[in-house]
Amino acid sequence: MALPPEQLPAHPTPLLTREAIAARVDELADQIRADYASTGDLHLVCVLKGAFVFFSDLVRRLDRPATLDFIVVSSYHKAKRSSGEVRLIKDLDTGIEGRDVIIVEDIVDTGLTLTYLLDMMRARRPKTLRTACLLSKPSRREVDVPVEYVGFTIADRFVIGYGLDYAEAYRNLPYIGVLDSDT
Ligand code: 5GP
Repeated sequence: MALPPEQLPAHPTPLLTREAIAARVDELADQIRADYASTGDLHLVCVLKGAFVFFSDLVRRLDRPATLDFIVVSSYHKAKRSSGEVRLIKDLDTGIEGRDVIIVEDIVDTGLTLTYLLDMMRARRPKTLRTACLLSKPSRREVDVPVEYVGFTIADRFVIGYGLDYAEAYRNLPYIGVLDSDT
């Protein structure tokens, strides 16, 4: 099931508007600011590529000091479903031992990617470790994984936009849309 680029709809059906996303990102930022009010060193890790838009909006709305790092994993390989294989493409630049860390992901689907990342980061002994995900598809979960900050819980649809891709297309779509299950 692969669509040639010329058959991809230019304006996929919206699931979450840019206004709804912005309002929810504000709420998540408020919640994180409150939860880490007594923490000097807050370190946020962006999981590339899918989380790049969510991450950049979230960190700019935090309104408090924070340090940032980026990690690249690959778990999708142009398919519309997770392969179940997670590959580390680029590791963090800085150590996280003794630090208050939040991993920022685009979407939790089976939970395998986040589990892989949590195991890897726990081994580096951060002081605290939490996760923030813009989207969660609980009906697809294969492993139970803790997500402290969830933007939206969605049904089992394939979503694109706001950083999320289909074969590298749609990452710059300003809203979250759905690619129909027959596409
Ligand atoms: P998991 O390991 O939880 O199954 O999958 C997580 C990764 O799969 C996400 O970071 C994302 O890259 C990809 N993914 C899962 N569901 C979707 C989806 O509906 N749309 C897109 N574009 N990627 C998805």
